[in-house]
Amino acid sequence: MTTTNPPCAIHEADCAPLAAPWVELLAQIAATHPTVAAVFGEYEAACRARAPGAVGVTPGQPTVCLEELALAAQFAGVRVDPAAVGALADAHLRLLAGQAPPPARWLAAEVLAAVAQLRTSDLESALPRLLSAERRCRELGLDQLLLLTLSEVARGLSQSGEPLRAIELLQEAVELARARGDLRAEAMNLGNLGFVFGDRDDPQQYASYTREALALHDHFDDPYGRAMAHCNLGGALSRLRKMDEAEANYRTARALAERYGMRFVEALCLGGEGGVYCERGDWENGRASYAASNDVLAELGNRYQICRHHYLLGQYFLRADRLPDASALLTAAVDEGRKGGFGTTLSMALESLSVVCERKGKHEQALTHLREHLATQKRVVETAMEDRVRAAERRAHAESGRREVEFERRRSDELHQVNHELRAALARQRELQAELLRVSQTDPLTDLSNRRHMRELLDREVQRLSRRYRPLSLLLIDVDHFKTVNDRYGHDVGDEVLVELGARLRSSVRTIDPVARWGGEEFCVALFETDVGAALIPAEHVRACIAEAPFRTRVGDLSLTVSVGVASLAPQSLDIDEALRRADQALYAAKAAGRNCVVAAD
Ligand code: GH3
Ligand code: MG
Ligand code: MG
Repeated sequence: MTTTNPPCAIHEADCAPLAAPWVELLAQIAATHPTVAAVFGEYEAACRARAPGAVGVTPGQPTVCLEELALAAQFAGVRVDPAAVGALADAHLRLLAGQAPPPARWLAAEVLAAVAQLRTSDLESALPRLLSAERRCRELGLDQLLLLTLSEVARGLSQSGEPLRAIELLQEAVELARARGDLRAEAMNLGNLGFVFGDRDDPQQYASYTREALALHDHFDDPYGRAMAHCNLGGALSRLRKMDEAEANYRTARALAERYGMRFVEALCLGGEGGVYCERGDWENGRASYAASNDVLAELGNRYQICRHHYLLGQYFLRADRLPDASALLTAAVDEGRKGGFGTTLSMALESLSVVCERKGKHEQALTHLREHLATQKRVVETAMEDRVRAAERRAHAESGRREVEFERRRSDELHQVNHELRAALARQRELQAELLRVSQTDPLTDLSNRRHMRELLDREVQRLSRRYRPLSLLLIDVDHFKTVNDRYGHDVGDEVLVELGARLRSSVRTIDPVARWGGEEFCVALFETDVGAALIPAEHVRACIAEAPFRTRVGDLSLTVSVGVASLAPQSLDIDEALRRADQALYAAKAAGRNCVVAAD
């Protein structure tokens, strides 16, 4: 194992005062986490040997220490408050301002403070600072600091949804690291490059850059970087469906993670392995692996990953058509997603949950989930778009020139594409929604409205009619001796008759009058703006159109009759339930009167 010792662009002594706050933080971690302390002990010794006085800070690389500190803390599950780190960095900047320091030293502190902001997700403040630091580094020829700044700017840009720019900067950083013989920086930037490609759903590039990074890792000691790279490679390979290789990488990463106490990497690997098991249909181990991962994540308080794991496992079960399992997991993912405000995962989980409900025939629930999915997706996309607009504004202020024009063109192509995809997705959602709505309102056998839809229509119509004092009549229609059809010719022939009957009813009344299958072999027709006297005419027409022509079926022609009960709603008291009750009584009276006739309620 060799450790590279890059030449320093910034004078080492300039960095020495930066060390103190980090040493303090390091000591804090060391006190509670012996494994991490051991790693840092080595690191500290190496720094001391190279630059006496600059303990804890690689000469010329003030942010590297912070970077590793934050990573180590995160992986070990230690909560180092990034806001506290930021405060330290700012205090330092103020100190430097009073001392009129050389520009290089001031710039290093500035980058440090901006990086602390980036770690607290304060992209708005961090990015402009980093971008202007990048420009100053170029102007002053500070390659070492530029290298660091490029990685950080790229991280910020990739977080703000500008992966193309991030990729270009990371490629520049890799070149620069190579030119300087800085293997550690080269590996780190290659790894980040891979990660951005992974985010862009390009597992091929993700795997290839991560492999390059891993190859470099043999030359220096960095268990965090190595574990993370193996874990990332596992992710890329499993997306490429190379399950055995993926598993091997997850295992290697997990062994390192366990040895050095990196709990977060351990959890990521366990989750990855769970996915591999599920791909192979080994549900028991898959479930166990995800559960073990979630236990660690719960300890670390990482609800986001837990939510993702519920979603991923649920997705596997859905694909295998194991609906009860899928339903439970996706519901858990939705709960977590709502609680934590994890828009993207929540939206995906809702969409999958709606598929589960649809397969179970629960159309109404499916519709509810789909509606929430749509609303969540809209919110996510809007936020992403707003971020991009803000990023564009920032760039418009911060930079200009040819490079910028080129970026702008690509970015607008990308925006165009995203817009197009969004529109297509929304159109698809709308179609789906309309179809779901139709299905939830229709009787599948006769294609008429179902009872619930008819009730909705009636309730709505009554509101309208009562305002205008207009009447409404209802027909309840029941097939006479229908049981005999079933008993003699079988249920299928009975169904055939019901389909034909539905069609005849539909065409025997006005198109504005809704016709519904009320249940079994009973139908309901609503006659708008029609009082009981006027309703008798269409009622008689309905009766006649059934009785006068035989029904053609596979067993030959069958003659059928229907009995009809009529009731009207008085304009002053449009009580639907009351009218239905009276129509039902009239129907009963029609049956008692010998069937094949129309009876109106008093
Ligand atoms: P009536 O109404 O004249 O008193 O005699 P009925 O024989 O029609 O008596 P009832 O209304 O009690 O019976 C209705 C029958 O309709 C019973 C049930 O088997 C049948 N039925 C209900 N729904 C369906 C269906 O979807 N398909 C078929 N084929 N038959 C159905
Ligand atoms: Mg009946
Ligand atoms: Mg009947």
